[in-house]
Amino acid sequence: MSGKLIILSAPSGTGKSTLVQYLLTRPFDLEFSVSATSRPPRGNEQNGKEYYFLSKEEFQKKIAQNEFLEYEEVYPGCYYGTLRSEIDRISAKGKNIIFDVDVLGGLNIKKQYNGRALAIFIAPPSLEELKKRLMIRGTDSPEMIAKRLEKAEFEMSFAPQFDVVIVNDDLEKAKKATEEVIFNFLEK
Ligand code: ADP
Ligand code: 5GP
Repeated sequence: MSGKLIILSAPSGTGKSTLVQYLLTRPFDLEFSVSATSRPPRGNEQNGKEYYFLSKEEFQKKIAQNEFLEYEEVYPGCYYGTLRSEIDRISAKGKNIIFDVDVLGGLNIKKQYNGRALAIFIAPPSLEELKKRLMIRGTDSPEMIAKRLEKAEFEMSFAPQFDVVIVNDDLEKAKKATEEVIFNFLEK
């Protein structure tokens, strides 16, 4: 594998996807690692673009066949994972890979790739602000928002284990800060 790995992890609703979409437009030769999930598509999500949507049974079969670099049951009954084939697909093009994965998945990938990976933790300014963003985004039911918030506190405790922590308070500032650390890492 030739390219480098950029990992973005954060409690859900912090702005990780927004930042990843922005970074993909920058001249970093990045390609998005499309994860597999057993949750159903949300809004306009398309199979193979945002995620590979699998049934729970299909997902479990791939776990048994050791097809995942890492996977987590991020929410009860909802699996998410990075397929080894996805890394091979992007590496074959000689590109750098950007991941949008949960906190445990992010640290797991970092452990496997060490210096070849940069693990960035995106932190929300506060839990109240996080709740507001999830409500405004409007893609989750009130029950799901409650679950995501409950998990956020636990996820925040892992921030010190990441290479870099960036607070997404002002989006433009967070974009610039993320861009800068990635630029420096890729230059090394
Ligand atoms: P995640 O991928 O971490 O779940 P999203 O990128 O979907 O989060 O962002 C959650 C919501 O918050 C979206 O509606 C997004 O437009 C909004 N958002 C992102 N960053 C900011 C920010 N700095 N200030 C206010 N709203 C933001
Ligand atoms: P969502 O349902 O909002 O798309 O994602 C929920 C959470 O799952 C997010 O924190 C997202 O980063 C995480 N996630 C997405 N793909 C993966 C993956 O491949 N592995 C792990 N561990 N988490 C993932």
